[in-house]
Amino acid sequence: MKLGIGVAGLAALFICALPSCAQLSVGGKVETKKVLPPTKHVIEEVRSYRLANQDRIMRELREFLSIPNVASDTPNIDKNAARLKEMLEARGVETHLLSIEGRGPVVFGKLDTEGATRTVIFYAHYDGQPVDPAAWTDKTPFEPVLRDKSIEAGGKRISFPDAAGGTANSYQDHWRIYARSSSDDKSPIVAVLSSLDALHAKNIPLAVNLKFILEGEEEAGSAHLQKTLQLHKNLLGANLLITGDGPTHQSGRPLVFFGNRGDIGLDITVYGPARSLHSGHYGNWAPNPAMQLSRLLAAMKDEDGRVLIPGYYNDVDPLSPLEQRALNAMPVNDAELQRELGIAKPDGGSANKPQTSFRTGPKHRSTPGSLKVKIRKKSLHKSRHSFASRDSSSSITNPL
Ligand SMILES: [Zn+2]
Repeated sequence: MKLGIGVAGLAALFICALPSCAQLSVGGKVETKKVLPPTKHVIEEVRSYRLANQDRIMRELREFLSIPNVASDTPNIDKNAARLKEMLEARGVETHLLSIEGRGPVVFGKLDTEGATRTVIFYAHYDGQPVDPAAWTDKTPFEPVLRDKSIEAGGKRISFPDAAGGTANSYQDHWRIYARSSSDDKSPIVAVLSSLDALHAKNIPLAVNLKFILEGEEEAGSAHLQKTLQLHKNLLGANLLITGDGPTHQSGRPLVFFGNRGDIGLDITVYGPARSLHSGHYGNWAPNPAMQLSRLLAAMKDEDGRVLIPGYYNDVDPLSPLEQRALNAMPVNDAELQRELGIAKPDGGSANKPQTSFRTGPKHRSTPGSLKVKIRKKSLHKSRHSFASRDSSSSITNPL
């Protein structure tokens, strides 16, 4: 588990969101500000903390993973929220449970930093996808299991180092922990809290205020998130939101997202003849609704994956040179991914050079043609990388 990269990276982010000026001249008066150490130093310090505290970090994660977390299982989802409150408060974070009837609450946390003028919100969800224990490899989705590598790579089950009588801090980067939500999103939550512990232990001051929004029904569609946040919008001001809910790059390296795209569920009704028709009598005369639906879908995109609906890209900002440079610097892994997934040709050009050079996905448009379309659900915050998405719901801990 490369937990340390995530911990160190997050820690660096929390201290580097402000310039590290030692002195500031205000109206001719020189004020001494907190001296913030260089990022490289922070990363080294936090990594050394992580290496010395792997056992403690992993114990907290394992304990958290052991609490069943299907959104509809209210008693257990409440236990997750209560545990999160304890975990946040142990770090001095002021915590409130923003209740939702019949669902787990949004866990809101706030950690003020003296002298800080900017605020970073960390979002993650603590519920997981519904799971059938019988279909789970180890049959026990809420009992964390360690393997020496991923199941796909033939990983064998091994004992946790503390139980094996070895050195409790001897975790290896290629090991994997399996449990529901081990990647999505319980590990990122433990990573961010561990990064706070590391900064505290190493006497590295935070440069920003921190807020936490931890949701308990993301996998059930986030039906109440928007309303809950609107009700408590006085709590929410911030300059930056970091989401812990998303995939790593296929190369295993962490990703920084430039934006999230949403998704929309549609009910499409295609009208055909008033009764069933015999194909031998009416075929080639009566229009076939299946063919009409195929035509509709096929007309929405060209062969390269570009959306053909008029006006669809109108309000999408072009990529800035900085964003384009960042995309160009991404590891190229198209060939490997195509081989793994059995795909002859990807949509949208190379992952690094998307054919549509736009920053964000456009908003929903009206429907072409005369078909009846009903918007069923609009996910407000589904995290999907805009050019290299992969299902983030695997049971493998993200190599953070
Ligand atoms: Zn998720």
